[in-house]
Amino acid sequence: MSPSKNPRPEPSSSAPKQGSARSGAGAPRTAAAGAPVDSARPQIRPKAEGWQQPMDAEGRPKLQFAQPKVKQPPKHLADMTLDERTARAKELGISGFRAKQLSVHYFRHYTSDPEKMTDLPAETREQLVEEFLPPLLTEVRRLKTDDGATIKFLWRLFDGAMVESVLMRYRSRITLCISSQCGCGMNCPFCATGQNGLTRNMSSAEIVDQIVQANRAIAAGELDAPNAAEIADEADHAALGEETDFAESEESAAAGKGASSSSGVGPQRVSNIVFMGMGEPLANYKRVMNAVRRMVDPAPEGLGMSARGITISTVGLVPAIRKLAEENLPITFALSLHAPDDELRDELIPVNSRWKADEAIDAAYYYYKTTGRRVSIEYALIKDMNDHQWRAELLAEKLNARGRGWVHVNPIPLNPTPGSIWTSSEPEVMRAFVNRLESLGVPTTLRDTRGKEIDGACGQLAAAEE
Ligand code: SAH
Repeated sequence: MSPSKNPRPEPSSSAPKQGSARSGAGAPRTAAAGAPVDSARPQIRPKAEGWQQPMDAEGRPKLQFAQPKVKQPPKHLADMTLDERTARAKELGISGFRAKQLSVHYFRHYTSDPEKMTDLPAETREQLVEEFLPPLLTEVRRLKTDDGATIKFLWRLFDGAMVESVLMRYRSRITLCISSQCGCGMNCPFCATGQNGLTRNMSSAEIVDQIVQANRAIAAGELDAPNAAEIADEADHAALGEETDFAESEESAAAGKGASSSSGVGPQRVSNIVFMGMGEPLANYKRVMNAVRRMVDPAPEGLGMSARGITISTVGLVPAIRKLAEENLPITFALSLHAPDDELRDELIPVNSRWKADEAIDAAYYYYKTTGRRVSIEYALIKDMNDHQWRAELLAEKLNARGRGWVHVNPIPLNPTPGSIWTSSEPEVMRAFVNRLESLGVPTTLRDTRGKEIDGACGQLAAAEE
């Protein structure tokens, strides 16, 4: 998969409304950092190419919130609390203690293999594993890049559905980008995942099993250390799920503790989770939250991870964002904004037809007010589409209007997807965009995503077998 070689820009017939109003009736302006004059650049409009974007009866991009009626995966101990597991064991006529032992095997030793469970009676092991640890994710393929510090896993689920997760080792943390749905119903034209619509929600245990399997691979020594170039890059770019303030905080040190090896060579299990794989996590709210509980609950209830290291990213499902704010969990929240103006966001993020950019930003601000956790705004920079200086200004104006110090903007260069006519912004345009936001008092960090060579970067996960 490679970026489209011949992007076909479609200059818009009229200048963007806010843009011309804001820049003095379209008068040419030069950005502070000497960026290209905005008015000399066209306004490309989003357009799906190479695939047909499904439309609803009113001719708008189709949105799928509910999952199709399909068979659900078998129940696994990671779907249940420890109390529920114990009760289930008793129902089966087994001692409740066995549920706890199985939980230790799964959450602490990352094993579902009855052979290794020597503390369990040999005659009942198989039955216990069958009941509580049915196979959920079968590895189909694994691709490595960055000298082995990044691994993309392709998993087959019980019904043949496929999902991907991406494991990345940095100097002081290991981040796993996980999927929450098979496919996605949000239909964003620049993202590969949405191109086949939503197959189904993943169960809580399927979500959690991505982490357990990643931990198993790490424990087996299969994830290499980042090379010098990666480490240098890491210093330059704040990484997902670990904002700069978090990295320095005491909580972060505490979060790292359980995950670090005593030899000081960095963590030996996944320390950070980003819900930035396939799917819209807030459209699968109940199962995702149940999975998050399993991630943070201490073993043997769950994995004992720090909630602060878990990032939930959303297209902007406003009621769900507000609900999330009230969960009383200090997880990190990220909003995929990608455009501050509704004119463009309506086309780029189809869910904007339900909740407008301002409502989504209000909800993000509510998240901050309720949790005290600084939120992230994600912004994929797309050449001549959303990278104009006036948009940086409008974004800063909208964020600053709500307050200071509550938000951090994370622009990233657009990653190529099949059929995309668009490309990433030019480096100097990206720099100018970042500088403009910074000069207006908005903390901004340009970051690059890992895994592009293996189609493992943001928006590239499509889970195809070939
Ligand atoms: N559905 C959620 C999470 C999955 S996508 C969401 O939309 O937030 C994770 C991030 O990758 C989102 O910010 C998404 O907009 C971004 N993304 C999607 N396609 C991309 C692409 N081609 N290049 C860069 N980022 C992309």
